[in-house]
Amino acid sequence: MRKVVTSMLALRLYREHDARLEEVPEPELRPGAVKVKVAWAGICGSDLSLFETAPVPLDYSNPIMQETGPHTLGHEFSGYVTEVAEGVTTVQVGDLVAVRPNFADGTCPSCQAGHPNMCDNFAFIGINGWGGGFSESVVVPADHAYVLPPGFNAQIAALIEPLTVAWHAVKLAEIPKDGTALVVGAGPIGLSTVLALRAQGISKIIVSEPSEARKKLAAEVGADLVIDPRETDVVAAVRDATGGRGADVSFEASGIGKATLQPAIDALCTAGRAVILASFHGDVPTDVMPFLTKEKVLTGSFAYTAQDFSDVRDAVVDGRITPDALISSRIQLSDVLDSGIKHLLGEGRTTEVKILVSPS
Ligand SMILES: [Zn+2]
Repeated sequence: MRKVVTSMLALRLYREHDARLEEVPEPELRPGAVKVKVAWAGICGSDLSLFETAPVPLDYSNPIMQETGPHTLGHEFSGYVTEVAEGVTTVQVGDLVAVRPNFADGTCPSCQAGHPNMCDNFAFIGINGWGGGFSESVVVPADHAYVLPPGFNAQIAALIEPLTVAWHAVKLAEIPKDGTALVVGAGPIGLSTVLALRAQGISKIIVSEPSEARKKLAAEVGADLVIDPRETDVVAAVRDATGGRGADVSFEASGIGKATLQPAIDALCTAGRAVILASFHGDVPTDVMPFLTKEKVLTGSFAYTAQDFSDVRDAVVDGRITPDALISSRIQLSDVLDSGIKHLLGEGRTTEVKILVSPS
């Protein structure tokens, strides 16, 4: 019998500023995998960077994914399971799942040292191959599909991935229980950081953000002080709010440059820790003396582990995190380029937070 291959719509990246919505064959089920019919997929800041810079050459094949481009975009997604490979028992047909898109080889020095999120060969569904969320169906290994309870909101499930990025950063920061956190930038990751801080028991949260819409959201999701850096000296305001001491931890979630990184360092208390969560482009000159004389620490936080992902799944299910406010628009897959990616690179930059895309 001849097998009928059906096609589906997918957004695939060819080169800088060249992503194409096109018909591609539906992916076939592999051993140990499940097929997920995409419900919702979020557009991430890194999708915008990928669209603008196309850093993965078309002929490059990641050692884990073993696939050359063009690759489908979209790594923040949820969907319903339509097929399950033989022997898979953790996921059933009909389950709503959130997909953890990152992969590690398990064998490199970073993996061996216990840092799978920073695997030397790390790969993402939606960046390096194996399809992506901006399509109708994706086949993923069963252990990357995190099951949600029946009736759970599929839009919230699509937010688990960006929330987990923030969750990992907050865990890494080891903030004292009564400590103060400064979040610089209230885009999707900054707002997710506020939610993760709350869920991990930190309640003294200061946010610096110039956009009116995002300032409002920051207060809504749990910041107790929101500063507009165009009107107020961020460092002075943080010192004021902490009795002169400074913040225990800061999270740089804007990636603008010295203008946003330096206050994140200067607003810290002695031995405080600044965590970089945003991608920066180019050099960022900074005064290094506070690292010497105040033993401040500057670190980054990259992606997340499998444990982080299941911790956040549990937190959205039991209501410790309610991220609904992050969703600013819902669009169709057929509009993902104009109303999604290009809109976010233009006027949507300050008005939108998270745009969710649905193929149906
Ligand atoms: Zn590795």
